[in-house]
Amino acid sequence: MTTTTEPPVTVHTLTHWLSNAPAEGKSGRTAPVYNPATGQVQAHVPLASKAELDAAVQIAAAAARKWRSSSLSVRSGVMFKFRELLSARRSELAAIVSREHGKVHSDALGEVARGIENVEYACGIPTLLRGGYSEQVSTGVDVYSIQQPLGVVAGITPFNFPAMVPLWMIGNALACGNAFILKPSEKDPSAALFLAELLRDAGLPDGVFSVVHGDKEAVDAILEHPGIAAVSFVGSTPIAKYIYETGTKNGKRVQALGGAKNHMLVLPDADIGMAADAAVSAAYGSAGERCMAISVVVAVGDAGDKLIEAVQERIPKLKIGAGDVEGNEMGPLITREHRDKVAGYIQSAQEQGAKVVVDGRDIKFDNEGFFLGVSLIDGVKPGMDAYDDEIFGPVLCVVRAESYAEGLKLINDNEFGNGTAIFTRDGGAARQFQFDVEVGMVGVNVPVPVPVAYYSFGGWKASLFGDTHMYGPEGVKFYTRSKVITSRWPDPAGSKVDLGFPQTR
Ligand code: NAD
Repeated sequence: MTTTTEPPVTVHTLTHWLSNAPAEGKSGRTAPVYNPATGQVQAHVPLASKAELDAAVQIAAAAARKWRSSSLSVRSGVMFKFRELLSARRSELAAIVSREHGKVHSDALGEVARGIENVEYACGIPTLLRGGYSEQVSTGVDVYSIQQPLGVVAGITPFNFPAMVPLWMIGNALACGNAFILKPSEKDPSAALFLAELLRDAGLPDGVFSVVHGDKEAVDAILEHPGIAAVSFVGSTPIAKYIYETGTKNGKRVQALGGAKNHMLVLPDADIGMAADAAVSAAYGSAGERCMAISVVVAVGDAGDKLIEAVQERIPKLKIGAGDVEGNEMGPLITREHRDKVAGYIQSAQEQGAKVVVDGRDIKFDNEGFFLGVSLIDGVKPGMDAYDDEIFGPVLCVVRAESYAEGLKLINDNEFGNGTAIFTRDGGAARQFQFDVEVGMVGVNVPVPVPVAYYSFGGWKASLFGDTHMYGPEGVKFYTRSKVITSRWPDPAGSKVDLGFPQTR
């Protein structure tokens, strides 16, 4: 398997981003940033203290007061320019993502493209913030509603989409007139700084967008800071729950998206070749480190044996290696510890009675990168660790089911409800599934049903804490609060005291 083409890098120390400029960390604490394809440390990221977060909030609060009075035309103009810069420099951004996350360049380009969609959506902010108006609700009285920004809002994002997930939040939050503080994952923090530079170049005023790197200390400072009105979070379920509970306890609006266990139900009438292509792509793309990855195939009836054979045929053709080598299809995992944890699930599945059809641990790599081959495990059942936990690696588990009803029950009984898919040629069965299934995002012959930017993204059950999904119309709703104005311009000559409760007349 091929190693990276890149020469060893000089280890540098990254900065925060405040007032449209890099800002050195002052806490004295840093974390290493690895190149997962080589296993080497390539940078150190500063970890902000509570005081540093507070300084960022002061800057953001001052900037937010001015930014909210900028016209919709100015705000959409910044978004159009931001979109143009992102589009022109997408390959550079993808290279940054690939270097720190490990995903292959083509996949990183895909993530950037999906992020740009969200900025395009935010370009339409003049239309999105159009309020309602009712004339003559009572004689001479009109009522109208307006959407106003919240002030300073924050985003806390995961390692697996270091460009796309921040872009799910940034465009809408800024276009709605808020100042935004991003706390990216400390594992791949550089994409956030690149986005900050592009926003500055797009004309965003100083202080409206900040990047504060950090770990739990910075996150807790965000959750406790009275100057932050709302928090958007994407990450694992235990942390999402903590963010939701702590943030709301402190009076904030919180949307916290958590982990997943996405099942793909394959009915006996499905086109097995197509289902196998979809399962392989959705399970192993980005080394399985996608919240919408398919991690479980539920094969109904005789679909099972045929599907296992078809998936097995495709596996040896996958090209695994460094993200910057053209032609590679899957890169390493994010850290050595995570790679070993994923490998542990293959071991435990074997010990708990499942059949490891393809064992990713058998593939040897020629360097210290965090690589693991792909695995296919048959006969997986609830109660086994490989089924019960979110593995977040290139491991596809197959569960056998006798019927549609048994498969559906398995999905509905699962604690997570992020994404799911059905593969069938029966439109009636697909429609029934869409009606029955207790999952927030559903694919019909589509394995990774991430909604386009003008819908909203969000799972059910332990995959989302809060009641607002991310981006799209629900994103705009999250980043604004509505105000309803009741107005009349009466002739003072007819004015009189009336202690009755106001009624329409
Ligand atoms: P994570 O929960 O470990 O980290 C997410 C963020 O929380 C990071 O910014 C991190 O610094 C911070 N954090 C980590 N531990 C913390 C703690 N103890 N206290 C406070 N903050 C803490 O998640 P990850 O490993 O970066 O990302 C992978 C997870 O994210 C997976 O579970 C995946 O399913 C999930 N995810 C979900 C979605 C979705 O839309 N539902 C999208 C992408 C990723």
